[in-house]
Amino acid sequence: MRKTIVAGNWKMNKDLNESVALISEIKNLLSEDTDVKMIVCPPYTSLETVNTLIKDTNIGLGAQNMCAADSGAFTGAISASMIKSVGCEYVILGHSERRTIFGETDELINAKIKKALENSLIPIFCIGETLEERESGEMKSVIERQVKEGLNDISADQLSQMIVAYEPVWAIGTGKTATPDQAQEVHAFIRGLLTEMYSSEFADNVTIQYGGSVKPDNAKELLSQPDIDGALVGGACLKADSFVAIAKAV
Ligand code: PEP
Repeated sequence: MRKTIVAGNWKMNKDLNESVALISEIKNLLSEDTDVKMIVCPPYTSLETVNTLIKDTNIGLGAQNMCAADSGAFTGAISASMIKSVGCEYVILGHSERRTIFGETDELINAKIKKALENSLIPIFCIGETLEERESGEMKSVIERQVKEGLNDISADQLSQMIVAYEPVWAIGTGKTATPDQAQEVHAFIRGLLTEMYSSEFADNVTIQYGGSVKPDNAKELLSQPDIDGALVGGACLKADSFVAIAKAV
C-alpha cells in the first residue's frame, strides 16, 4: 500500500537559528497520534543541525537539490554523498524553480535521479505544467515528456524507491490552488503513465504528492482524492502551526 507523505520545502528561507526554532516548534506541535509521515527539506546549511533535532521523531530529512556528479570541480555544488553524510534520506529533484530559474533539463534531472538512487537517497521527483501550457492544451504532453524523460532507464524496482510530486507551476507560491478535481485528473493521468511504463502493481504503490499553495484549509479536500497521496508544501511549511495542521488534515 502506498504511503501518504507530507513534505515541506523550506526553499532559501531560514538561517541556522531560524531553522532550529522552526523544527523545535514543529516537534512541539506534533502529538503522538500524528502518524502521517513528514519530511522537512531545510537549506543545506541547516541540514546537519536539523538532523540532530529530529533523531527521536518520525520526521524525515531531505535536501532541496544535489549535483549529478560525484565530486570534483563544480564550485558551489553539493553531491549526493554529501547530503547523505549529514543525514538526508530524501532529495527534491526537478522542482519547477530549478527547471525555470536554473535551466535544469529533463535529461539533467534524470541523471540526478539516477545518482540519488545510486546513493540510496529517495528522490522526490517534481513535475508540472505552466499556465501557458495548460491553457494551450499541452498539459498532458508536457507531463508525459517530464515523466518519460525524467524516468528514462529507471527500473520498476528503482521507481518503487521514489516519490513523485505533481506541482502545477501556476499554483506554486501564487495562492492559486488546483481544485481537487483538477489535481485528481492529473494525478490519475500520471499513475496511468506509470502503469503503461511499468505495471499497475508498481504504479499503484507510488506515492504521488500534490504541491501548489497547499494550506491547512484546502489540504483535507485535496488529500482525500483517490490518487493524491500527500503534499509537497512551500510557503505554508515555514510556519510550524500551518505545516503541522496540513499533516493532521491527512
Ligand atoms: C513548492 O514550491 O514546492 C510549493 C508547492 O510551494 P507553495 O506551497 O508555496 O505553493
